Amino acid sequence: MNFDLTPEQDQLRDAVRTLGRKYGHDYFVRKAKAGEHTTELWHEAGRLGYLGVNIPTEYGGGGGGITELALVCEELAAAGCPLLLLVVSPAIAATVINKHGTEEQRKRHLPGLADGSQKIVFAITEPEAGSNFHRLGTVARRDGDDWLLSGRKCYISGVDEAGHVLVVARTEDSATGKLKPALFIVPTDAPGLEKSKLDMEILSPENQFLLYLDDVRLPADALVGESLDAGLPALFAGLNPERITVAAMGAGTGRYAIERASGYTATRKVWGGKSIGSHQGVAHPLAHAAVQVELARLMIHKAATLYDAGRDLEAGVAGNMAKYAAGEAAALAVDTAVQALGGAGMTTEYGVATLLGAVRAGRIAPVSREMILNFVAQHVLGQDKSY
Ligand SMILES: Cc1cc2nc3c(=O)[nH]c(=O)nc-3n(C[C@H](O)[C@H](O)[C@H](O)COP(=O)(O)OP(=O)(O)OC[C@H]3O[C@@H](n4cnc5c(N)ncnc54)[C@H](O)[C@@H]3O)c2cc1C
Repeated sequence: MNFDLTPEQDQLRDAVRTLGRKYGHDYFVRKAKAGEHTTELWHEAGRLGYLGVNIPTEYGGGGGGITELALVCEELAAAGCPLLLLVVSPAIAATVINKHGTEEQRKRHLPGLADGSQKIVFAITEPEAGSNFHRLGTVARRDGDDWLLSGRKCYISGVDEAGHVLVVARTEDSATGKLKPALFIVPTDAPGLEKSKLDMEILSPENQFLLYLDDVRLPADALVGESLDAGLPALFAGLNPERITVAAMGAGTGRYAIERASGYTATRKVWGGKSIGSHQGVAHPLAHAAVQVELARLMIHKAATLYDAGRDLEAGVAGNMAKYAAGEAAALAVDTAVQALGGAGMTTEYGVATLLGAVRAGRIAPVSREMILNFVAQHVLGQDKSY
C-alpha cells in the first residue's frame, strides 16, 4: 500500500496550487458576480498543460491518468477556484473520445481539449427522465447518411462557453425497452440547437442551460465511435472519471473552507486573551469536518488508482463512495466554516458563504447521494432494486 504521490505528481500538485493561488477565490467570485467566465485561469491552466494531464501525449496531453486530473481539480478548488468544467470537458468528454471515439475524432478534438482552446460539455439529463436514464427521450434518427437529433436536456453546464456538446440520445428503434444510448459530438452553433440559461442559486462563473434539439442535422461522423455499439461503453467510460474528479473538487473546496475558518479562529479573540479556536465548541466541528474531508481524499486516491490501473468495476464502487463522501464532507466543511467565522462567514470578503450553493449542489449533481446509496445497496450489499 502506497500513500505517496510520485515526485511528478507532487510537482504537479505544487504547480497547480501556485496557479490557483495566483487567481484565488476573489477572482472566482468577481467573475461569477459579473456574469463572466474564468477564461484567464482556464487558458493559463491549458497553456501550462494542466487541462490535458489525462490525455495521451500523441494528442498533445500529459499522458497521465485520472489521478493527475483529480489533483488539478482538488488543488484549484483548494485555492478557491472549483471549476466544474474540468469535470465535464477533460474528465468526461476527453475520456469518452479517447477511449471510444474514432481516430479521426481523437485527432480532431483531443489536442484542443488538452491545451484548453476547446471545451466539450456533456448533456445527458432530461426534464422527464431525471435520474432514470433509461427513460431518455432524446432520439437520433437516420436520414440518409446523416443523423437528426430531437429532444430536450436540462441543467447542461457551460454550453455558452463550449464549441461542442456531447449529447446522449437513444436511437429511434430503441425507443422502448432497455436504453441503447448513442453519443453525438454536436457543435453548439448547429442549426436547430437552442439554449436558454437557467437561473440557479449557485455563485459560479459557469452556467446551466436548458437545451432544445429540433431535428439537429449531424453528419455520420458526429456519432462517437465506429458504430452504434460504442454507445453504452462510451457512456459508462465517462462515469468513473466524472465521479472521481467531482469528488476531488469537493475535497478541495472542503480544504479551502476549513483553512479559511481555522486561520480566523486561531487568531480571533473575543473573550480576553484566548482565541475562539481554543473553545472546543468552535474547534471540534472544524476538526470533525477536517476528518471527513481527509477520509474522502483517501477514497478519491483509491478510486483514481484503481481506475488508472484499468480496474473499472472496483473503481466504480470506490468512485461512487468517494463522490458520496466528498459531497457530504464539502457541504459539512463549508457550513461549519461559515458558523466558525460568525458574521464574517456571511460576508463576501471572507469567501466562504459564497460556496454554499455549490457544495449543496454537489450532493445532487452529477449523481445524487440517493442514487449512490442505491448503487452501494445493490452492488455492494446485494439488495434488491426497488425502482
Ligand atoms: C449545478 C448543476 C450542474 C449540472 N450539470 C449537468 C451537466 O453538465 N450535464 C448534465 O447532463 N446534467 C447536469 N446536471 C444535472 C444533474 O446530473 C441532475 O440534477 C441529477 O442527476 C439529478 O437529476 P434530477 O435533478 O432530475 O433529479 P430527480 O431524478 O428528479 O430526483 C429528485 C430527488 O429524488 C431522488 N431520487 C430519484 N430517484 C430515486 C430513487 N430511485 N431512490 C431514491 N431517491 C431517488 C434524487 O436523489 C433527488 O434527491 C447538473 C445539475 C446541477 C444542479
